[in-house]
Amino acid sequence: MTAEKITMGADGKLWVPDEPIIPFVEGDGTGVDIWPAAKLVLDAAAKKHGKSIAWKEVLAGQKAFDATGSWLPDKTVAAFREYLIGIKGPLTTPIGGGIRSLNVALRQILDLYVCLRPVRWFTGVPSPVKRPDLVDMVIFRENTEDIYAGLEVEQGTPEAAKLIALLKSDFGWDIRTDSGIGIKPVSVTGSKRLIRAAIEYAVANNRKSVTIVHKGNIQKFTEGAFAKWGYELVREEFSDVAVGWDDCNGERGDKILVKDSIADITLQQVLTRPTEFEVIATTNLNGDYLSDALAAQVGGIGIAPGGNINYVTGHAIFEATHGTAPKYAGQDKVNPGSVILSGVMMFEHLGWQGAADDIIRALEATIADKIVTYDFARQMDGATEVKCSEFAEAIVARL
Ligand code: NAP
Repeated sequence: MTAEKITMGADGKLWVPDEPIIPFVEGDGTGVDIWPAAKLVLDAAAKKHGKSIAWKEVLAGQKAFDATGSWLPDKTVAAFREYLIGIKGPLTTPIGGGIRSLNVALRQILDLYVCLRPVRWFTGVPSPVKRPDLVDMVIFRENTEDIYAGLEVEQGTPEAAKLIALLKSDFGWDIRTDSGIGIKPVSVTGSKRLIRAAIEYAVANNRKSVTIVHKGNIQKFTEGAFAKWGYELVREEFSDVAVGWDDCNGERGDKILVKDSIADITLQQVLTRPTEFEVIATTNLNGDYLSDALAAQVGGIGIAPGGNINYVTGHAIFEATHGTAPKYAGQDKVNPGSVILSGVMMFEHLGWQGAADDIIRALEATIADKIVTYDFARQMDGATEVKCSEFAEAIVARL
């Protein structure tokens, strides 16, 4: 095999060689533990299917800062740009000045407009709810707009005073003069491309519904418009395969039903009626809350994976969704499940479904044998607590 680049074809589909070059960021803190564990599992599963990965280390976060003086070196961004698909461990968020969050910066620079978070339960994983098996949802969270655009002015600054004065003079809005102000942009472009990706996913994966989650009862021209544009999109582009709730009174026939739900009640209903949600399309902040709340239902952040994707350019970065957990760094202790399952998402994205399915099966078999890391062991009776690396070895043994 020869190591080659993944490329985007003129047909909008990825071309994936048998030995793709994939940039990875090990990650700060527990990255030194979970990345090697994940690599062991991913390499073994790929090999079983006649594939191999030419891993290319790139730096970001503390490791990058120590080596280069930059938290996010241009070389790293260039590598993710060139090789299209990458994977990363957790990164320390620099405190004070400069970049707010490296993760947010990467998403914005590469315009990774979908944050994809599948949420499902794996047999045996300890959960705080009675029927975690009923949770099988995929969240499409808008990744570039909303309050994450970073458009804020600090209370007490001349910029804040200027904006408050402008809003008074031009809009007649009375805002307390001792306020900080944030701007929440939600565009037709940003909303429709996100909801389009969610509906296309539902079509490709035989899902029956897409729920647009929003706070449009209060924020009419941002959140409300997001839902309105979603229904518009169904009529414009998907009328052969999907139908909006208002256009069918909930009677979907054999089409995908696109419905909407207010964010606050959604947070209740994903708990009380999980089977009513399959694919969720939502704005950035709602998606942030919803992803973590749902992750808790199926076993917590130790195993929640995520992907940041631009389906048009082909760029994608898969990632552990938890942080660097510095108190455990270097102890070979924490759960590598989040990076392993991010790798599974990456394999699915590359079209390596067989290798992805094998990892899931082996992970489930390992947990069913009650071989788990500390986070699960403390919630399970009769578990064998193993190290991070031993958990990965146990998965490999069951591949
Ligand atoms: P955190 O690193 O996610 O850790 C919070 C708690 O989550 C840990 O104390 C641990 O719980 C549990 N946990 C985290 N990773 C785990 C794993 N692999 N296996 C099992 N349990 C795990 O959050 P934080 O302490 O608030 O943040 C630390 C740093 O990470 C900050 O610099 C933050 O900015 C950054 N961060 C990065 C990302 C990212 O890169 N995607 C995301 C969030 C935060 P117990 O103590 O109960 O065992």
